Amino acid sequence: MAEQFDVRYQQQINNIKRNETIQVETQTEVLEFDKLILACPLDNSLNFLDTTLDEEELFSKIKYNKYWTFALIMENMPKRSIGYLPSNFYSDKQGHIMCWYRRYPDINLYDFYVIANDRQEEQDIEKIMVEDLNKIGATIKEKYVSAEWKYFPHVDIVDIENKFYERLENLQGIKNTYFVGELLNFSYIEAVIEYSYDLVKRFF
Ligand SMILES: Cc1cc2nc3c(=O)[nH]c(=O)nc-3n(C[C@H](O)[C@H](O)[C@H](O)COP(=O)(O)OP(=O)(O)OC[C@H]3O[C@@H](n4cnc5c(N)ncnc54)[C@H](O)[C@@H]3O)c2cc1C
Repeated sequence: MAEQFDVRYQQQINNIKRNETIQVETQTEVLEFDKLILACPLDNSLNFLDTTLDEEELFSKIKYNKYWTFALIMENMPKRSIGYLPSNFYSDKQGHIMCWYRRYPDINLYDFYVIANDRQEEQDIEKIMVEDLNKIGATIKEKYVSAEWKYFPHVDIVDIENKFYERLENLQGIKNTYFVGELLNFSYIEAVIEYSYDLVKRFF
């Protein structure tokens, strides 16, 4: 799908200046465009975009939940390759395992998915995971890798009441700049794609 586009990997965006045209400064060059579509977390753009006061105010309000994934070599896991622990799908069970996934049948490598709260560090979550796994008779043989993700961008209820989303939508197209991504719709892939198609239909 991307074959028809000029996709560039490993670009460090240092600066974006929006005047008559849009100048994007990377680690190697300055590129010039007539339109800008920001598809990264909008709060990340505070580091490189010549933000207006409205953009700065709105982007600074964005919050996230902490989503952790752990890839672990396991022993004595249940036979099924995908498992859910619905009793952990509650806010008072933050830091507990919600589900797991075994991608390759020939190795005992399992991905575990955990939504944590802001106070929980990696070692706190690992301790809780060991307890959860004990309950199903499984043990961790080796930790392969772990990652923390910024998940579910959102704003406080009071910001919703103060028309955060309406104000963000009203910025679409201002300074030849557009925004896409999960914040504008909902935190799953299909919603991101749906919003992107809709934005292109409305403005291009
Ligand atoms: C652990 C986990 C599991 C999930 N599982 C599912 C699932 O099963 N199904 C589902 O539908 N959704 C799932 N989601 C949600 C889904 O991944 C997101 O909703 C979706 O990827 C958001 O798309 P996006 O384009 O807004 O952001 P992203 O996919 O995060 O894309 C943003 C991009 O911006 C780039 N970027 C950030 N900062 C900069 C910068 N300064 N300069 C240049 N580029 C930058 C990032 O590298 C990234 O590639 C999951 C999310 C997580 C965290």
